[in-house]
Amino acid sequence: MNRPVRVRFAPSPTGPLHIGGVRTALYNYLFARHNGGKMILRIEDTDSQRFVPGAEEYIIESLRWCGIEIDEGVGVGGPHAPYRQSERREIYLKYALQLVENGWAYYAFDTPAELDAIRKEYEQRGETFAYNYAVREKLPTSLSLPQEEVRARIDRGDQWVIRFKMPENETVKMHDLIRGDVEVNTSTLDDKVLYKSVDALPTYHLANIVDDHLMEISHVIRGEEWLPSLPLHYLLYRAFGWEDSQPEFAHLPLLLKPTGGGKLSKRDGDKMGFPVFPLYWVSPTTGETAHGYREDGYFPEAFINMLALLGWNPGTEQEIFSMQELIDAFSLDRVSKSGARFQPEKAKWFNAQYMHHKSDAELAVLYQPILKAHGIEASDEVAGRVAGIMKERATFISDLWDLTSFFFIAPTEYDEKQVRKYWKGDNPAILVRLREVLASIDDFSLENTERIVHAWIEENGYPMGQVMNTLRLALVGAGKGPGMYDVTSFLGKEETLRRIDSLLANLKPAE
Ligand code: GLU
Repeated sequence: MNRPVRVRFAPSPTGPLHIGGVRTALYNYLFARHNGGKMILRIEDTDSQRFVPGAEEYIIESLRWCGIEIDEGVGVGGPHAPYRQSERREIYLKYALQLVENGWAYYAFDTPAELDAIRKEYEQRGETFAYNYAVREKLPTSLSLPQEEVRARIDRGDQWVIRFKMPENETVKMHDLIRGDVEVNTSTLDDKVLYKSVDALPTYHLANIVDDHLMEISHVIRGEEWLPSLPLHYLLYRAFGWEDSQPEFAHLPLLLKPTGGGKLSKRDGDKMGFPVFPLYWVSPTTGETAHGYREDGYFPEAFINMLALLGWNPGTEQEIFSMQELIDAFSLDRVSKSGARFQPEKAKWFNAQYMHHKSDAELAVLYQPILKAHGIEASDEVAGRVAGIMKERATFISDLWDLTSFFFIAPTEYDEKQVRKYWKGDNPAILVRLREVLASIDDFSLENTERIVHAWIEENGYPMGQVMNTLRLALVGAGKGPGMYDVTSFLGKEETLRRIDSLLANLKPAE
């Protein structure tokens, strides 16, 4: 069947979006764009107990920062609006009742307290309680109670839920685009709650299936943690008679800890010093904060590039991909079945690669705020030029200040080790002569200065390294920085001479 590709990212606003969730959104987006389809954002907020204020805004801002565009959904609108499940509540009851009518679901009247008591009783006998075929006709349900009693309880306002009537001992055969064929025996599954009268809201399972159907979703691409729900979802499609338009499913592998064992958690990030969330987050209830890739200085393109390769491989050696290249190359059959281990160093490596490929103009825009914060007024041309000279040694934009501050601020202190090594012997006297040579140069461009100074050093038989490092001490104050003529041409003649004079005047040579 050739149907239009429509995928959805369906997060629950229960806190900041984990990077595993961002990856799910990304794979949905890449799949949609690759196939000329639509990307839908649906907010699944029917669990009012777990709702966290600000989480929805956080999700939307995260996707925006990452460059994952939404075609239909919360914040955008579209033909199936509303896309926030709490605003669709009147839709779901009808579908729950339809299942009761056709025998696929039933009312259950046990209160949470009664269920707790039963659970405890089982525990004491060393057993685990499951609400399933074995007990549903013994508990207060519409399967055990007379019809009038069921009506009476509902009419007088008793609390009820609607549960799915999971068939006994049936094999559900499913297909997953990543995992292949999967089979489960229904006797291992329980009767999940689909709808609760207490808040007149559906649970995840019912709302998710009804909405995927109504929103004409063609492919459900989501985390592996939802694989255990797949048999129920298959049976729900059957129960509604929607098998023909049922979406295809793809369950993505977990993101694993850097050490391999288990799911990547916030605690791993805290322990090892890397973010597990795209943006900075402050919990509105506890005030607890969490690092974000954005605020920690990662470029969104680098972050996305790294995430794309955690669980998917292009089948080639290529590692650097723009969003468009990812869209062109992406396919679900290259998504791996096994978990993808997160490597914090690789995240930095990607950032450095993107850093090195930025133009001076791009760097200028990113670097200007840092320069301003240090009280440096520089033109974009100058900001871009110094950043461009040093970018190869930087991983983050924030590294640039340490690497380039000497361009703007003359040294007032000199690195002790360099002083001991170079500010001795003939070097101070040679620097005095070098100052004269520099003073006589009119064209202070990189090439011209280099040519003249080199010739002069060779003519006099001076040790090149010693002379250059002494000059570096004067201009930079330390043993770091780019090539010396990058520095002289940037500073210009006047400032170069001033810094040499300052070293000569302020530092007594070592014996
Ligand atoms: N609301 C679910 C979540 O938060 C969606 C799962 C699905 O995509 O079906 O992950």
